[in-house]
Amino acid sequence: MLSRDHPVSDFAQTVKQQADIVKVIEGYIRLRKAGANFVGLCPFHKEKTGSFNVSGTKQFFYCFGCQATGDVFTFVGRMENVGFPEAVRIVAQKCGIPLPKREFSSPEEAAEARLRTKLLDLHEIATAWFEEQLRGPEGALAREYLAGRGLNEDGIRKFRIGYGPDSYNALRDRLSGMADQETLRASGLFSSKEQGDGSQGPIYDRFRKRIVFPICNEGGRVIAFTARTLETGEKAGAKYVNSPETPLYTKGLVLFNLDKAKTAIRALEFALLVEGQMDCISVYLAGIQNVIATSGTAFTEQQVAILRRHTSQVVVNFDPDAAGANAAEKSIALLTEEGFAIKIVTLDGGLDPDRFVRERGVEAYKEALRGARRQSDYLIERARVLFPGASAEQKVKAVNFLLPHIRRMPEMVARSQFAADAEQKLGIADSLIRAELRKAALKRRERVEERPAKLTEVERVLLRALAITDPDGDHARHLGRCRRWLRARPGIRWK
Ligand SMILES: [Zn+2]
Repeated sequence: MLSRDHPVSDFAQTVKQQADIVKVIEGYIRLRKAGANFVGLCPFHKEKTGSFNVSGTKQFFYCFGCQATGDVFTFVGRMENVGFPEAVRIVAQKCGIPLPKREFSSPEEAAEARLRTKLLDLHEIATAWFEEQLRGPEGALAREYLAGRGLNEDGIRKFRIGYGPDSYNALRDRLSGMADQETLRASGLFSSKEQGDGSQGPIYDRFRKRIVFPICNEGGRVIAFTARTLETGEKAGAKYVNSPETPLYTKGLVLFNLDKAKTAIRALEFALLVEGQMDCISVYLAGIQNVIATSGTAFTEQQVAILRRHTSQVVVNFDPDAAGANAAEKSIALLTEEGFAIKIVTLDGGLDPDRFVRERGVEAYKEALRGARRQSDYLIERARVLFPGASAEQKVKAVNFLLPHIRRMPEMVARSQFAADAEQKLGIADSLIRAELRKAALKRRERVEERPAKLTEVERVLLRALAITDPDGDHARHLGRCRRWLRARPGIRWK
């Protein structure tokens, strides 16, 4: 993909001299020091033990597993799925080296880049404006609510929480001089009603009389909002109103708080996964900084891939009986399939993390995290509670509950261990049921890939790569990029 038939420009040489390859690669994957080099899991092939080496002194990387090798530009080019000139620009930007005038490969691409930059600016201004509204007289009720949830001024500032006032045009008026109507519409900050003739009516503020929480990309830039109502009763409407998908924001590609949590996730070598944004904020502010949230929906493959760049261990603190239990189980299932080591926390008294931390303190919460159970132990316990009693019928139900979980695990050793534990802890004496358990341990369930049929295999692979390396891009943009790339290479046709 990366062609070096361009003569290496002076600019590229300058960038290469100033860039530290270790630092740049560490922005993508976890590295640990090993002698004179750094070692980590190779991002270019699937592996469990690190064979990916980076030499700071020689400024190159080499993988003993797949023989991938090159310099900082090769690495960034492959990770970002871009050619050499773009890789140089990205590395320059990361190292704070001023860029020469930017050039794009097509007018479409230039227009896309301009729109995204503009939308980022609008989100930044909107965030500051919401913050200002929260501090102002109209924000009194919202401030009271936040104080009641244990959020002080520091916390509010840290997460840039704001308030959308009770007005249909206040934000629109604030932003209208800065962008045309079409751009404002594309920002997702506004709503509009469909007219009789099918066209969209005038835009009005989307987040009204709500506490507004910014959602950031991995670089910490605000790309969307989620807003909680302050009303109760019939007038309240939806409890949360979210930004729609925009050129900046694709819901399935963002992990809430990853921008703030990623350093701690790498240092502690695990991520704490909670369901709600409020849970996440409150746990983070209590001093547990490796926490991220799924925002109440099931994980996507892309989110799992993003998380894998930072860790392969997750401690999950979901409420097993909440409305989101289904989404939680799906997320856990996907993480299991992808080979993550998972532990599960259950909190006393059925409390959610937010309330637990506020009522019992952060030390008690840390204690609960230390007591997290392996996923298999948790599931076996759940099977026992769901299907109590010694009858063969109950045992069959318990085993049927466990089988899909067992089959999902990629490692045979782990499946066998799980099956043996289940057999013992559930006290299964029946030889037929035991045989079924052991069979499940031997044979892994085939994974069913859910993909739109019109994508070809090569598009699927490229899309996945793009989703990982460009988490703020949306599906359509990614597809556009990968199809343009393929058009330029008519030789590539995978089935
Ligand atoms: Zn490799």
